[in-house]
Amino acid sequence: MDLTLSSADIAFRDMIRGEIASMVPEDIKTRVENLQHLRKEDYMRWQSILDVRGWATPAWPVEFGGPGWSPMQRVLFEEACFMAGAPRQIPHINMIGPVLQTFGTEDQKHRYLPGIPTLRDWWCQGYSEPGSGSDLASLRTKAVRHGDRYIINGQKIWTTWAHWSNHMFCLVRTSDAGRPQEGITFLLLTMDTPGLTVRPIHSLDGAHDVNEVFFEDVSVPVENVVLGENQGWKVAKFLLNAERTEIAGVGQSKRMLQFARRLLAELTNAGVSSSRLDVFRSRIARIAIDLKAHEWTLMRVIDAKPDDPKAPSASFLKLCGTDLLERVSTLLMDLGGPAGLAYDVDARNGNVDGTPPYGHVLNGTAATYFEYRKSGLVGGTTEIQKNIIYRETVSRWAAQ
Ligand SMILES: Cc1cc2nc3c(=O)[nH]c(=O)nc-3n(C[C@H](O)[C@H](O)[C@H](O)COP(=O)(O)OP(=O)(O)OC[C@H]3O[C@@H](n4cnc5c(N)ncnc54)[C@H](O)[C@@H]3O)c2cc1C
Repeated sequence: MDLTLSSADIAFRDMIRGEIASMVPEDIKTRVENLQHLRKEDYMRWQSILDVRGWATPAWPVEFGGPGWSPMQRVLFEEACFMAGAPRQIPHINMIGPVLQTFGTEDQKHRYLPGIPTLRDWWCQGYSEPGSGSDLASLRTKAVRHGDRYIINGQKIWTTWAHWSNHMFCLVRTSDAGRPQEGITFLLLTMDTPGLTVRPIHSLDGAHDVNEVFFEDVSVPVENVVLGENQGWKVAKFLLNAERTEIAGVGQSKRMLQFARRLLAELTNAGVSSSRLDVFRSRIARIAIDLKAHEWTLMRVIDAKPDDPKAPSASFLKLCGTDLLERVSTLLMDLGGPAGLAYDVDARNGNVDGTPPYGHVLNGTAATYFEYRKSGLVGGTTEIQKNIIYRETVSRWAAQ
């Protein structure tokens, strides 16, 4: 792929940077730039602002309301959002959206797609279960058909933002015959269905993002099946590829690197000697170089034709993105030193006005480090991505 900017790309970049900079509300920008946790209404407000311009779903095809941008334009848009302090796009937009566009019935497209761009419909992902994470095909949440309904019993875990969601896409077991993958169905449901309970899990940094979800005789109409009974594994894998591309996290790593630069500047201003800080300058430079290469890989992945044997895989992208997030969060903790152990959770969660005792930049750099240990697990662990890359490489060699 040609990575140089054409004159049309340059014109687009200048236009989008100017527009996005003028669109981000000041309070949201402050929270984003202080690495605070955003609220549901922050994401919804920003998506609604983008929606007015037709930019809420940059990766969607024109026929479903997307802007029809090229991969280069999408990257330039992401960059403009990053520079302007806009929230990241929540991943589910590019997970359930393309699934419905590719496998959904006309009725499902009509019913569910319109609520996604503004996040009026907030979706959560019910894949993982206790004992079924890496070995996802072993999942046991059971859906038994009674007439035109399924009755679901079982449990999901680590369900991000289930407490914010009004919809869930989930995998359920509809058959025990054959290979485990052959008895899985992809189902859509609403979170207010009787029998469904959400319980919070609080993470190490004091955030509440993930949950347990329990199903007790939850009744769902059969028309909520995507693709067909026992056909869910195909849909699940399609969605996981999209998820791993989303987790690549270029924008998030850039934001944290920018934060590291801010911290470095504060330490310099506070009189810390240059010789003590030089090691951090070179670490920042190394990460910035690797981040650029990662961004180019992302562009190659989103630009690739489905059957291109030279295209890097989504697993490779996820692996590199995870590595960068972990490195930049380690850098932040090292820069913060012992002062970064102080952590005002309420300030991080945006629940109090004003600045925490050590300022936003030093607030909980250690907590941020612990938070980002999750990136090696989300969307399939590092070891699982390495297994997939190995298998893909071997099969490509065999095909040559
Ligand atoms: C913050 C966060 C948010 C999440 N959000 C969601 C969500 O919204 N929806 C959802 O469905 N899930 C979600 N998950 C779950 C996530 O997908 C799982 O944690 C992940 O797939 C790993 O599964 P597990 O936790 O059961 O670990 P396990 O599968 O038990 O793995 C434990 C360890 O064993 C290793 N391992 C396992 N099998 C192999 C193998 N074959 N080869 C080599 N090593 C192996 C793993 O790499 C890992 O280190 C989330 C997880 C986190 C941490």
